[in-house]
Amino acid sequence: MARDPRYDVLFESVKIGPVTAKNRFYQVPHCNGGGYRDPSAVAAMRRVKAEGGWGVVFTEQVEMHHSGEIAPFIELHLWDDDDIPMLAKMSDSIHEFDTLAGIQLAYSGVNGPNLYSREVPMAPSAMPIRAFDNDPLSARAMSKRDIRDLRRWHRNAFKRAKTAGFDLVCLYGAHGFGIIQHFLSRATNQRSDEYGGSLENRSRLMRELVEEGKDVVGDSCGITLRLSLDETIGDLGFANSELRDLIEMHAELPDLWDLAHGAWEDCSGPSRFKDEAAQRTLVSGIRELTPRPIVGVGRFTSPDVMVQQVKSGTLDFIGCARPSIADPFLPRKIDEGRVEDIRECIGCNICISGDLTMSLSRCTQNPTFMEEWRKGWHPENIAVKGGSDTVLIVGAGPAGLEAARALGERGYQVVLAEADTRLGGRVARERELPGLSAWGRVADYRVYQLSQMPNVDIYLENELSADDILESGYEHVALATGSSWRADGVSRHHVMPIPTDASLPVYTPDDLMAGRLPAGRIILFDDDHYYMGGVVAELLAANGCSVTLVTPAAYVSSWSNNTLEQAAIHARLLDVGVDIVLNRALTRIEQGHIISACVYSGRTSCMSADAVVMVASRRANDNIWQQLSAREAEWEAHGIKSIKVIGDAQSPAPIAWATYAGHRYARELDEPDIGDALPFRREIAQLKND
Ligand code: ADP
Ligand code: SF4
Repeated sequence: MARDPRYDVLFESVKIGPVTAKNRFYQVPHCNGGGYRDPSAVAAMRRVKAEGGWGVVFTEQVEMHHSGEIAPFIELHLWDDDDIPMLAKMSDSIHEFDTLAGIQLAYSGVNGPNLYSREVPMAPSAMPIRAFDNDPLSARAMSKRDIRDLRRWHRNAFKRAKTAGFDLVCLYGAHGFGIIQHFLSRATNQRSDEYGGSLENRSRLMRELVEEGKDVVGDSCGITLRLSLDETIGDLGFANSELRDLIEMHAELPDLWDLAHGAWEDCSGPSRFKDEAAQRTLVSGIRELTPRPIVGVGRFTSPDVMVQQVKSGTLDFIGCARPSIADPFLPRKIDEGRVEDIRECIGCNICISGDLTMSLSRCTQNPTFMEEWRKGWHPENIAVKGGSDTVLIVGAGPAGLEAARALGERGYQVVLAEADTRLGGRVARERELPGLSAWGRVADYRVYQLSQMPNVDIYLENELSADDILESGYEHVALATGSSWRADGVSRHHVMPIPTDASLPVYTPDDLMAGRLPAGRIILFDDDHYYMGGVVAELLAANGCSVTLVTPAAYVSSWSNNTLEQAAIHARLLDVGVDIVLNRALTRIEQGHIISACVYSGRTSCMSADAVVMVASRRANDNIWQQLSAREAEWEAHGIKSIKVIGDAQSPAPIAWATYAGHRYARELDEPDIGDALPFRREIAQLKND
């Protein structure tokens, strides 16, 4: 199909200094949890984006010197020439598709505890390290000699970046990361010399680094600056008004301005708290202050919003991190007139949790993310079907829907049976909870794709029993029957049910999602620690309940620190009047009240309640699987070659785990059994000779 002419403007080429981007789709730097540990996996992931049509594809943050590093987080290194081949692999793979390759250089300064290199951290002014973990050490103030060293290290890094084949070199000074921001902000720069005080002085290092970068590589590389739109700490910090003054002052300094909001959690706000194009007001008008192009982000997934950003003169490039992860082929789909095929990011930030847990990032929407090299998975291509023909999938939640979609693409005859009146399983229910409507995209994308496949039949209101499945006559069966919230409190704190007096009603999130809401004084016990406790508390408060959230953790929704949501969740709960009780566990549910105990002292106290809402853990709905595995001897007689249990029905987990399980099932069907072999490739560091 042809491209809709409305979107032509997105495909105009734009110059960035000495190089030209073929279109306005700009994959801004983003982490992936792989970095220096998995460089081939990262290179293959970036390659897929180039193939998907992005005009610019960047690395993640690349530590440009060992004295400003952020261990334990796993990013890329450009510490010396030995790192060049690893980075060249990335730029080479990006160049295969006529895409500009960008590298983001970062010197962590006050943000880098140097836990690995053991160098004493350096910053504009002496102060405690400002990283995620309140590391108990300080950075020392940089002397003039240190600043000269830093400038030389940057010149070396620019040369290495060019040798590694990059077309764009970005200096990082946003999100609180990157020494340029630390110099720009009066909060972190309290110097009294020519590098501190006035904005001109605070921007001196930035100007020197860019000018010297241009001297060294400016003939062939575009030099860009990634700066904070607003540090969001009030007048003391680098505010939006100062950024505007700075851009006016240095209007022609970089070849492009890359603007990102305040802290990382402001910039990568989850859909629960931030809409698409949420940074519009902060960016608007900046375009008039500089002749250089501007890129900005805003979880853009709608081509109409993108066009509006360009036509209104707000942005020259559409910057995307998460939308490019969820759908690496987003530009190509717009170009080919296939907008309805875009797999839209849901804004859950599970991808970010991969970086913050130092594992490998996953994406809820795109199960192939970071499996491009390890498993050879491609987001748009999948092998044609193997020797069998028919598959029955029981349950149309994220796991069942993704299995059906990918198997349908492979060419199997697929039947998807769902007990409910609607498709989507848990996302059909959870999308109706406060702030989670975008999560429905997990179902919407797949339901539309399935509607285009003549070889997939869907049966709603079709609850299958073990007998139905045995009699069905399909060669393969995937049981994706999901999970249910437990009411007995068993989770992490309690491994046995909480003693409960039946006179005090206990509700689960499943009850609430089915419209069975309690009233009055509610004790919500959260031993799940992800989003559900906070979301349910918000729902109850909106329905007039007086809610006290009790959790054994030190933070409400503590795991959501990994999705950059925790602070926003706590603030939202305070806003809607929820009382938060930390470090306490529910120990007994009695008539008219509950007993809780401090997790440290064991001291108990009593709180009156009209009902308890238990957000503890989920139990796999695996009854049918248990029955069918007990009858394995009968499978063959019924023509069944395999029955597998996948997703939450195998083991409850976040939605990303379920889409992954469904995708993996579809990829591996009819593949040879690999026995005990490792199911993925890995990068092994070469041992150096001493
Ligand atoms: P997952 O996250 O693993 O995909 P969900 O809980 O989201 O799991 O979805 C499971 C789906 O399976 C639900 O929509 C549920 O209605 C459906 N289901 C459960 N048991 C049966 C069954 N016996 N027959 C058909 N559908 C079922
Ligand atoms: Fe978007 Fe979630 Fe995928 Fe991240 S994990 S790209 S936020 S859908």
